[in-house]
Amino acid sequence: MPTGVAQYLTPEMQEELRGIANAIVRPGHGILAADESTGTIGKRLASINCENTDANRRAYRQLLFTAPKDVTSYISGVILYDETFWQEAENGTRFVDLLKNQGIIPGIKVDKGVVALPGTFNNESTTQGLDDLNARCAKYKANGAQFAKWRCVLKISDLTPSPLAILENANVLARYAVCCQQNGLVPIVEPEVLPDGDHSLERAQYVTEKVLAATYKALNDHHVFLEGTLLKPNMVTAGQSCPTKYTPEQVAKATVTALNRTVPAAVPGITFLSGGQSETDASLNLNAINQYEGKKPWALTFSFGRALQASVLQAWGGKAENIAKGQAALLQRSKANGEAAVGKYVGDKGEGAAQQSLFVKDHVY
Ligand code: 13P
Repeated sequence: MPTGVAQYLTPEMQEELRGIANAIVRPGHGILAADESTGTIGKRLASINCENTDANRRAYRQLLFTAPKDVTSYISGVILYDETFWQEAENGTRFVDLLKNQGIIPGIKVDKGVVALPGTFNNESTTQGLDDLNARCAKYKANGAQFAKWRCVLKISDLTPSPLAILENANVLARYAVCCQQNGLVPIVEPEVLPDGDHSLERAQYVTEKVLAATYKALNDHHVFLEGTLLKPNMVTAGQSCPTKYTPEQVAKATVTALNRTVPAAVPGITFLSGGQSETDASLNLNAINQYEGKKPWALTFSFGRALQASVLQAWGGKAENIAKGQAALLQRSKANGEAAVGKYVGDKGEGAAQQSLFVKDHVY
């Protein structure tokens, strides 16, 4: 019998989810997204002439997860890919335990990738992985995961995103979120509006608002407990090939305005993806977002993949003798973003790959 009460989680489950979400976005902290699929990490390794083998993937992730303790002053959570989730460091400790022992919260990517919505203009997509999600979430939780990620992708053109793509992706994110929460995992809801195109900042803001509004309508329809979720959106930036260049202050205004119009204050935190921005641009924009004077009822922090790893990869170069250099680069980027998350980033020299564009056309993860 329907009871007329929408909340299906026990008070204890709600408290657990709320606690995890708040710990992830505590001041000055954010997420290292290290959940590249085997194909995607292969492209990153190829960029430093390193072969995409099990051993190299493990060695690279070990570098990330054994970085100097100072990294934990800025990184509260790490998102893992299934392969890494079950892997062990050289000393036989599971990566998940290595992270937990340092006070870093392990997370897991649970989507099974983007698939086409046939017949749509511009090859729009949805994201698959719902069928066995409940069983997978239960297994990940039992083995140490505390939060999860699911990425959906929306594309901007004159005709897109279509109402179909907006609705379908909002709905699949809501179903995923429910499934995670029932299993004690905080869902990171990621509707990424891609930067591909020459659209203006205003168009990016308009589309981001439409996508986020539909996403929160779906989360509400599905009775998702918002206090136990995090949002992982794109920052509102102009299209990658837009001839007009906008300042971090303009990006901050467009981003915070779009979020204020669409994201309930009950959501504890917003953990931005970097979306192909250079490492320094991502840090500068995050900093400007936190400095922006206006209503900001949520923590505004980072969940960067490329913008935390490009300099690390370059410094490491796949060589055992450069592990410490790679870890120093990770500390530098983590510190920059930890400071940006509280509006205290003063810029850095932009060494290594820090100023390189990390844009990837039609980015897959
Ligand atoms: P980027 O920061 O490289 O955009 O990726 C973050 C992420 O986790 C996308 O799902």
